[in-house]
Amino acid sequence: MEGLLKGKRAVIFGVANERSIAWAISEALHAEGAELAFTYAGEMLEKRVRPLAEGIGAKIVLPCDVTKDDEIEKVFQALKQEWGGLDILIHAIAFAAKEDLSRAFVLTSRRGFQLALDVSAYSLVALTRHAAALMEGRGGSVLTMTYLGSERVIPNYNVMGVAKAALEASVRYLAHDLGPAGIRVNAISAGPIKTLAAAGISGFKDMLHYAAERAPLRRNIDAEEVAKTALYLVSDLGSAVTGEVLHVDAGYNIMGM
Ligand code: NAP
Repeated sequence: MEGLLKGKRAVIFGVANERSIAWAISEALHAEGAELAFTYAGEMLEKRVRPLAEGIGAKIVLPCDVTKDDEIEKVFQALKQEWGGLDILIHAIAFAAKEDLSRAFVLTSRRGFQLALDVSAYSLVALTRHAAALMEGRGGSVLTMTYLGSERVIPNYNVMGVAKAALEASVRYLAHDLGPAGIRVNAISAGPIKTLAAAGISGFKDMLHYAAERAPLRRNIDAEEVAKTALYLVSDLGSAVTGEVLHVDAGYNIMGM
């Protein structure tokens, strides 16, 4: 199967460190021959992302806070200049204020709601619009990351669950818009994995234990398993799949009791 993505070019948003889901996906895409470009959210992260990116031969490593339109534009201008086109966009970004992930959802402020939805859902729309322009005439694949809190109440996940619901609906609308251009848009709904973002959710350890006890496979999942499914979705293996939200959660989502 080696070389599944030979000659393909992918831009990755959402690597914070080597535990990031986006990093596991990057390694899987790289192993199959894709050339990668990376973005980082702030100077602090550059120190962690740049060595990782350069370690797998990435030449394009740029800052991008997705709440800033000018930074998004600069990234895609650079990709156009360096590569002339793009095949794959990985969106693995989410953020909500800490207080909104640890108290009753009803207390969510207007600002907290806007921030979570802007960073975690609208960013997919903005990034996909820019990516689609570079995928014109060659087709392409967009992949984002979501979680079960969009479909069911997961205590403390709160406004992030609402943002993920908007994200998943956006996947479907984007898939409809871009299907005629041969661009596929999908999401992976991953089970809980210990990462930097996950550490911000109050009671995350309980989520891990609960999922492992009740999932049909009776265990948690790891980022490498998400990456294998990502490979399927962004490569020719998933050529007829679009607008889909695929659960990679050891089966946890099917349980009623
Ligand atoms: P992570 O390593 O902390 O990755 C989250 C990324 O989002 C970080 O690189 C973070 O950068 C970035 N980000 C936040 N605000 C941003 C902004 N304004 N502009 C640009 N980037 C920004 O955690 P992860 O768990 O791998 O998360 C990746 C995705 O998977 C997220 O969408 C998450 O919701 C989803 N997911 C995670 C799990 C899980 O259990 N871990 C389960 C299902 C889905 P900073 O560190 O600088 O903020």
